[in-house]
Amino acid sequence: MKATVLYAPTLRQSPAEAEILSHKLMLRAGLIRKAAGGVYTYLPLAVRTLRKIETIIREEMDAAGGQEIAMPIIQPAELWKESGRWDVYGAEMMKVTDRHDREFCLGPTHEEMVTSLVRDEVRSYKELPLMLYQIQNKYRDEIRPRFGLMRSREFIMKDLYSFDRDEEGMNISYKKMYDAYSNVFTRCGLDFRPVEADNGAIGGGHSHEFTVLAPAGESNIACCTKCGYAASDEKAEIKLPAADTEEMLPMEKIPTPGTHTINLLAEFLHIPAAKTIKAVAFADENDRVILAFVRGDHEANETKIKNAVGALQLIMAEDTAICAVGGEPGFMSPIGINEEATVVVDSAVMNMKNAVTGANERDYHYKNVNPTRDFTNKNMIVTDIRMVQDGDPCPRCGEKMFMTRGIEAGQVFSLGTKYSEALGAKFLDEDGKEKPFQMGCYGIGVGRTMQAAIEQMNDEHGIIWPRAIAPFEVVVVPVNAKDEKQFAIAEKIYEELKAENIDVLFDDRPERAGVKFKDCDLIGYPLRVTVGNKAAETGEIEIKIRKSGEMKNLPADNYLTELKEILKGL
Ligand code: ATP
Ligand code: MG
Repeated sequence: MKATVLYAPTLRQSPAEAEILSHKLMLRAGLIRKAAGGVYTYLPLAVRTLRKIETIIREEMDAAGGQEIAMPIIQPAELWKESGRWDVYGAEMMKVTDRHDREFCLGPTHEEMVTSLVRDEVRSYKELPLMLYQIQNKYRDEIRPRFGLMRSREFIMKDLYSFDRDEEGMNISYKKMYDAYSNVFTRCGLDFRPVEADNGAIGGGHSHEFTVLAPAGESNIACCTKCGYAASDEKAEIKLPAADTEEMLPMEKIPTPGTHTINLLAEFLHIPAAKTIKAVAFADENDRVILAFVRGDHEANETKIKNAVGALQLIMAEDTAICAVGGEPGFMSPIGINEEATVVVDSAVMNMKNAVTGANERDYHYKNVNPTRDFTNKNMIVTDIRMVQDGDPCPRCGEKMFMTRGIEAGQVFSLGTKYSEALGAKFLDEDGKEKPFQMGCYGIGVGRTMQAAIEQMNDEHGIIWPRAIAPFEVVVVPVNAKDEKQFAIAEKIYEELKAENIDVLFDDRPERAGVKFKDCDLIGYPLRVTVGNKAAETGEIEIKIRKSGEMKNLPADNYLTELKEILKGL
């Protein structure tokens, strides 16, 4: 393509509307323009990149056994009422009413739609497994649309749904998608981690988020420095250290006036926080009081606590509620808590010896508390409920983990029979019995993936595209487009590269070289071929690698092999 016909309106200034770098760069490089809050027009350069990402996704979905379909964006309310999500989905759903007052929504996701399709079509186990996918616009009225395509209200998603006979089959489909996703993001040239995720309200088996590492990301993740284990901070497991080996001493009540926080307590007793036990009190959606205990230097993890006690929602408990179950705010321990409360204790606490914990009495603590001996509560739950911290040991290999941030570009879920049961989607199995489908759902945000690539790869001059998803792989720039000789050589190279099926842009604009170079760097084409004075004089052209800034002179009549070699590594 020639730059004189390409519509790529670059901006020199950073637009005020953009908060993070990738958003700024997308506006400046002429990729997108805002149409309304969280709604964008994709300009030609963006469309080229989006199509390349989609092609990679299609190839990988097809290779894994997926078949592309195209479901409607407009979905009847009835389907969502059947699954029970019409009201649950809440304000995020864009709803529309037709001229007959019938309600519809603009699809935020397609579990209901695809399940109803399969319910009406697939009768026998012989037709399974089945994987159906599509790539289309989704609509979510996000409470805070922001960061450009990162969290928008209209966005492109690839969504695939798997249908299997049994759990074993579902797990195989899940694994296929997990591998396909790894291939997609690897081929896109991204530094990412498949991150074990909490599957919260969706239920079912397991879930992974495919997270592109970038400091501006909204996801906090823990990564092992050695074995590749990665998990969201909510989910991350932690290897349990060996139990303390001290001899257990007799428990003793001691006065600790005014020490209602761990810091005050540790200071008052001259002990490290790791020798104390910290309490956090919650109430769940049924007003059940939940008392959670972690080591003084650890933090409680609400998601893990929710899962441990089977609560949907947790809020901080009122002091009166704490007192009603025998607790004393600021001075709590499991000792003496009555059975109405649910006591949940972190596994690391059970490994402590001669610790200090509240005495459930104002201004008093117990010392020499040995949880294995002294926590005798009926129905006490002991499990991992703590928040991972930088440096914690990996649950798989024991090496140190580090905390980092990333952008969730895709997510895979095993759903079990949640939707098939709600919608009555069943098939006839080999044994003659009707069974609900075992399902999985798998999404990739195409626009978010594009932006994540920009967020991860850029410098002070602009975007640095990995070749696989660059709008053009190579740009050929005649330094002085008015110089006929230069122009002719540049054009010849452009034609040659095109003939080699290289995706090449010919910057034939009559602009100053400086302007063109700035645009090349801002837009971020992986390779620039510059044709200047030297080309006419000595027959040399210059190749510049955007990522490293490396330059190389090559003869204009013998550059192709080397250029292709360089391109392969980008
Ligand atoms: P998030 O937690 O970021 O809100 P989600 O978990 O609700 O996302 P999914 O339902 O798993 O998202 O959707 C699959 C993929 O679609 C996500 O991994 C993400 O890449 C993309 N996506 C979701 N919401 C948006 C949005 N508002 N704007 C752009 N992409 C989105
Ligand atoms: Mg998600």
